Amino acid sequence: MFKTARIKLTLVYSALFLIFIWMSSFAIFWYCNNFFHQQYVQEIQEKTKNEAKECESPTYSEHMTEMAVVLALDKIKVILLVINGIFLVLIPGSAWILTGKSLKPIEEAHIREKQFVANAAHDLRTPLTILSTEMEVALQKNRTETEYKKILKSNKEEVEKLSKLVDELLFLARFDTGKKQNNVSSVDLTDVVSMAVALHAKAAKKKNLKLIFNPPEENVGVNGNKTMLIQLFSNLIDNAVKYTEKGKITVLMKHSEQKAIVEITDTGIGIERENLKKIFDRFYRIDTSRSETKGYGLGLSIVDTILKIHKGTITVESTPKKGTKFVVSLPIG
Ligand code: ADP
Repeated sequence: MFKTARIKLTLVYSALFLIFIWMSSFAIFWYCNNFFHQQYVQEIQEKTKNEAKECESPTYSEHMTEMAVVLALDKIKVILLVINGIFLVLIPGSAWILTGKSLKPIEEAHIREKQFVANAAHDLRTPLTILSTEMEVALQKNRTETEYKKILKSNKEEVEKLSKLVDELLFLARFDTGKKQNNVSSVDLTDVVSMAVALHAKAAKKKNLKLIFNPPEENVGVNGNKTMLIQLFSNLIDNAVKYTEKGKITVLMKHSEQKAIVEITDTGIGIERENLKKIFDRFYRIDTSRSETKGYGLGLSIVDTILKIHKGTITVESTPKKGTKFVVSLPIG
């Protein structure tokens, strides 16, 4: 598909440029022709005056001058032909390279999109298969109330995972289609971060992890969508809890006149340098065997998307087996 588009674009660009070069050559030749003939007319006029004095044949001199003009025009013709020949090779060549370069980001985006759809379909399929198998097994024989409750509980967990995944996919799809995000207002970031911390307090306690957050006394106002901002910090704290087995998670807030900074530091498994750039890609998960944690690899790409919407930035520093620190910066508004 992209190769055909590239060939078509190359042909169109080459044809346009070559027509331009041929028209310019024609115009140059026409101009030179006129110029030399004007010169020639002047020379003839001069010469006829002199020849009358020198008694030379006027027709011979006329003939010689015309010859000189024809020779000069012939030289120009050859030069123009050579230039045209060079362009005939150069233009399609450079058009091929240029179209390749300009189509590359579109091609890459298309590949990513296809990958995204394939991954989404796969990840939607997994909980559905679990649900269907569990139901089939449950229906094979009569069970006690406790057994049914256990199966329903597990079914509910799968449905919750499925609906979380669908929500995340819808969120990313909405952003991709350029739909405007509503409900933007002035939000107190301290509130937002406190809520995100509270959402994970139970999970941290369950793993015996200290979750430390000392909210600043003053309000830190940010212009944005509160639900999205809670999700942003919740995803980061969720990861910190998921990828830390012992130690603590510290959430720190600072701000200047223009920026609010939130640092989320953990003492977890850390991230290798070569993976740091990729963790924000959709569906990217570092070697799943390194931890028991479940996820779809969408958490950080959602964080990245929310930050793009809010004109914020994120940086990450990490040392494998020591811990990770995410630093979020948002404009104060
Ligand atoms: P997931 O659902 O897999 O957690 P994310 O997009 O949130 O997806 O994260 C992508 C990957 O980045 C994770 O699979 C994990 O390997 C790595 N990662 C994210 N946060 C941390 C962290 N705090 N410590 C260690 N690894 C992390």
